[in-house]
Amino acid sequence: MYFPFTLLFYLSILARSRGQSSVCKSPLVSPAEFLAEQYDYIIIGGGTAGLTVAARLSEVVNLSIGVLEAGYLHIPDANVSTPVCDHRNSTQVKGTDTQRPADYNTNLTGNPEYDWMMSTDPQVSTANRSIPQLRGKLMGGSSAINSMAWTRASIPEYAGWDALNNYSGEWSWDGLLPYFLKSERRKPNPVPRLPGFMPSYYEDGFLGPVEVGPNALYSDIVPPYIDTMNQLDIPTIYDAMSGNISGLTNVLVAIDRETGTRVDSSTAHYCPNAGRPNLRILSGATATRILFQDGIGEGGLRATDVSFMSNNSYYTVNATQEVILSTGVFKTPQLLELSGIGNATLLKEFGIDPLLDLPGVGENLQEHIFITTDFELNGGYTTFDNFSNPAFAAEQMEIYNNTGGGWLAATSPAVTFLPHAALLVSPSSASLLDSFDASLAQLSNVTPLAQAQYELQRSWISGGQIPEVETIQLPEGVVDVVAGQNYMTVLSGLMHPVSRGSVHINSTNPLVAPRIIGNYLTADYDAQVLLELLRFNPKIALSPPLSASIASQVSPPADLQSDDDLISFIREAFAVGDHVLGTAAMVSKELGGVVDEKLVVYGTENLRVIDVSVFPTELAAHLQATVYAIAEKASDMIKLAYQSQ
Ligand SMILES: Cc1cc2nc3c(=O)[nH]c(=O)nc-3n(C[C@H](O)[C@H](O)[C@H](O)COP(=O)(O)OP(=O)(O)OC[C@H]3O[C@@H](n4cnc5c(N)ncnc54)[C@H](O)[C@@H]3O)c2cc1C
Repeated sequence: MYFPFTLLFYLSILARSRGQSSVCKSPLVSPAEFLAEQYDYIIIGGGTAGLTVAARLSEVVNLSIGVLEAGYLHIPDANVSTPVCDHRNSTQVKGTDTQRPADYNTNLTGNPEYDWMMSTDPQVSTANRSIPQLRGKLMGGSSAINSMAWTRASIPEYAGWDALNNYSGEWSWDGLLPYFLKSERRKPNPVPRLPGFMPSYYEDGFLGPVEVGPNALYSDIVPPYIDTMNQLDIPTIYDAMSGNISGLTNVLVAIDRETGTRVDSSTAHYCPNAGRPNLRILSGATATRILFQDGIGEGGLRATDVSFMSNNSYYTVNATQEVILSTGVFKTPQLLELSGIGNATLLKEFGIDPLLDLPGVGENLQEHIFITTDFELNGGYTTFDNFSNPAFAAEQMEIYNNTGGGWLAATSPAVTFLPHAALLVSPSSASLLDSFDASLAQLSNVTPLAQAQYELQRSWISGGQIPEVETIQLPEGVVDVVAGQNYMTVLSGLMHPVSRGSVHINSTNPLVAPRIIGNYLTADYDAQVLLELLRFNPKIALSPPLSASIASQVSPPADLQSDDDLISFIREAFAVGDHVLGTAAMVSKELGGVVDEKLVVYGTENLRVIDVSVFPTELAAHLQATVYAIAEKASDMIKLAYQSQ
């Protein structure tokens, strides 16, 4: 039933895709050509952070920068560039045990051409499901497959990062703000289709490479949702980028409104700089190990070379200044361990000679956990479900091809971040605090880092100022979708889990995926928060004026009412938010960190980690804006260190 749309879509997208190719030079060089250069800095991973650092360092003309990226450049490629693309395809897989939020593009995710195809070990807490852990394997990394939402967390959360780093000030809000501003190019609001729901320009950056702005098109189920949330005392906020994200916001997205295409680190940081003679990128090159100079010098181990594999052949490339590891939350710990840096006991089990005993490597894994409540709408609404109608799909394709606008360039705009007390009806936020305390009491072997984090988390819950949950209105169905019907889904998630997971090597073969133990929902508190969200979501739908639009609740089934039944449903149906982080944490040495506040791996003098794995704690936000900001700031740190030699 959806086939004609998909087919037509690819045909029609061709012209737009061709247009893009002229503005981005392919990085394709052979390994021999790549190795013909001498490099000051080798960056492993051409993803969100890696390409940002590559662009910034190559601004210094006398520096030579080499990047190794396992995937390839996908420009032009409609699967990547079209914000919605095969929205309807994604609903075909819905109703299975892996509910994916609707904004995910299943031509990308779950497709080995773009995705690393990793997943967690099945666990009792996940109803024995192996949870897919999506990660981009292409130039642009996960920024090229993500949902494009653009948010910052709250000031006290970055203050928490600062506290975990001896209050160096580097990673506080004030330390990061110049880099949030530097990274983004805020575009004017399009014609305000929804008065009173437009974001303001407070604390926005206007000159950066990543174009961001609000949606240009809204489903007609959005206004009654906003009115209802406001009537439930959930305010609309207009300055969500100001360091206080609590409230309902018209979320910004990284979409170029002129072309209607995704903005990722490839389009923002690589394409404009592809012609630089001092920047060379080898795509299709998988780094396998970082090599160090013999013996430990005064500053620690010195990284000298990187081994990599390309087309089944092995090579080694030298870096005279630094090696920068930007391979993301799962591959960064894997590569550290394969290189002899990690928990010495674990490394020995795999026959790896430990060069540095850093037990924090691969630990501290944290992730947002989401659950959906789906409602069928009364007739008369237009939602993403309309793509099941071939006439609508054809019309939208034409609009998209002619203008870069319409539903194919739209995302879900209504995003709410809230502390427990604001959103939850029963039990009160106080009892969730009790649940948090009870979960902590059940934990054994709490590390000093986890202890410090839990103290922060407790103060956030009891203070009631920091968002603990996120709720996104999806103008479409996610589960058991019937063609011709329209739906609204409330996608709700836990922001600061108690559960901590891990990722470690599973083999000494660098091509074997690491073992991810998510431990999702192992702490009762985490499941309890989702339970409260499942109890709250029907309240939104049953409250006026939205109630007039709702025909029925589709999922969870209305007969699931007891706590036990709903918790079982949560374990069977939850999805991860793809905001996993923390596996090479930037935390003081005493607390068991992996990198210092300059992002240098403890015990080394010139190996930095710059990617989402250094985030010390989970944030109540989508992560990419902070990843870009960290990469921007780290680039300045590297330039400064170079100049002061
Ligand atoms: C499906 C999905 C949806 C998301 N939605 C949002 C959203 O809407 N908003 C938001 O803010 N955040 C979102 N996120 C999160 C955000 O995109 C990520 O946190 C962020 O992009 C991570 O950046 P990174 O630099 O750490 O890693 P990545 O961007 O993943 O980069 C790592 C790079 O390293 C490469 N690599 C890995 N191993 C090797 C190796 N051995 N050799 C060479 N190269 C290697 C990879 O191919 C990749 O290009 C989403 C993430 C996903 C996956």
